[in-house]
Amino acid sequence: MGSRCKRCGTVFAPPRPICTKCYGEDAEWIEMKGMGKLSAFTCIAVGPPSMIEEGYDRQNPYCCGVVELEEGARVVARIHAVDAKRPETIRIGMPLKVKFLHRGEGASLTTILAFEPTEGQESV
Ligand SMILES: [Zn+2]
Repeated sequence: MGSRCKRCGTVFAPPRPICTKCYGEDAEWIEMKGMGKLSAFTCIAVGPPSMIEEGYDRQNPYCCGVVELEEGARVVARIHAVDAKRPETIRIGMPLKVKFLHRGEGASLTTILAFEPTEGQESV
């Protein structure tokens, strides 16, 4: 979910109660479609403990990026189902769709915001 400023139309994800563009305080909820494109990314080989627990290390790096959503807002997310060992195969501007990753179970269940290439992009 995101928010849209009713005064100027700026979209925020995550939602904000006050618009950073016009300082308007009248916002409405909007449901994001979960589609976007890659604006920037990095492949990380030496991650924090939580990523090491997931099995990522120098031999198995992971990718994080900035995704520009169709609605206009930008979010930082895990970039899933790309080859982080070969960052030259990951392209700025590639179309992505949201993919919520779930780790753990019960009270320790966490949901991770991630995006993956849309159909037909996996082999690029
Ligand atoms: Zn505004």
